[in-house]
Amino acid sequence: MTKQMQAAVMRKPGVIEVTSVPCPEPKAGEVLLKVEACALCGTDQRVLSGEKAVDVSIVGHEITGRVEAVGAGVTGWRAGQRCVVQTVIGCGRCPMCRVHRENLCENTFKAIGYQFDGGFAEYMIMPKVGVDQGCLIPIPDTLPADQGTLIEPLSCCVNGMAYLPMEQLDSALIFGGGIIGVLNGLVAHARGCKRVAIADVSEERLGLLKRLGLPFAAYVNSRTTRIEDWVRDWTGGRGVDAVVVAASVKALVTQGIRLLARAGHLSIFAGLPKSDPVEPTDLNVIHYRELNLHGANSSAIDAYRTALDFVVSKRIDAGRLVTHRFPLSAFHEAVKTQADPSTGALKVVIVP
Ligand SMILES: [Zn+2]
Ligand SMILES: [Zn+2]
Repeated sequence: MTKQMQAAVMRKPGVIEVTSVPCPEPKAGEVLLKVEACALCGTDQRVLSGEKAVDVSIVGHEITGRVEAVGAGVTGWRAGQRCVVQTVIGCGRCPMCRVHRENLCENTFKAIGYQFDGGFAEYMIMPKVGVDQGCLIPIPDTLPADQGTLIEPLSCCVNGMAYLPMEQLDSALIFGGGIIGVLNGLVAHARGCKRVAIADVSEERLGLLKRLGLPFAAYVNSRTTRIEDWVRDWTGGRGVDAVVVAASVKALVTQGIRLLARAGHLSIFAGLPKSDPVEPTDLNVIHYRELNLHGANSSAIDAYRTALDFVVSKRIDAGRLVTHRFPLSAFHEAVKTQADPSTGALKVVIVP
């Protein structure tokens, strides 16, 4: 009889069942991981509710694991070693993949939890193509599993901010006080930006961030405060050196451009509504002020290594960001907790 494992299986969009399924076995070139922890993210919520389609029935891509077994021919990994998982798997052949920027794969990357079964299960497989690309990233034994789950989203923020010279900047404003806004802000701070402010429309959310004791210089309620006036006061009339849009609101991009100081940088971190992504803006503002606009799309190995270093060295205190932990059997409660702002959830982690 095949060995069984527990998994949160999506029967159809919106219908998730925690149930027993066959435990996968590693074929040649594959690695079987015991999932130590897997965090829920906003994208998972959209997938689970049916808003976003994926090819698999087990999702989850913010993963800390331990090697359980390796398939034939795998070298460099053996049972017992711990790792985090790089979500994105490229074609391995195109010019971007060849320089390990699989997140920009010219043949469209695949991803764990989207095209390959993810981490809301006791065990999961890293496919051969991922093993070969280095998608298992070793972590020290001292790194708590729940903190390891933050490496993936943190790496996305490291990647998105790679173009911004944070070490030289005086001020940065992050739109969005969710975990992604917070992680962007923490990367800006860890890289040496002197003052980082978080703007959000929810007083409840800003209150939670204040209670967590994060190293931010200011919190702004962008619903009740006229942000242009606030930025003018905060920066002595210069404007902010960087804006990161970490909320899916396209008007924040044009607003953010107007808030920038000369030679400022704006990063469009959040994906904007695919049905309506067009937003007119005065391009002369970019021209005369020498502004810089940047995109951000997932992450690859270099950004994971930097993110891991931030957390292990404690330049980013990941421990205080994990507000809730649930066993796999309480998966539904975890999903509800993450979706309900009144619970004070920032990062919710499943520990199978
Ligand atoms: Zn995620
Ligand atoms: Zn490629």
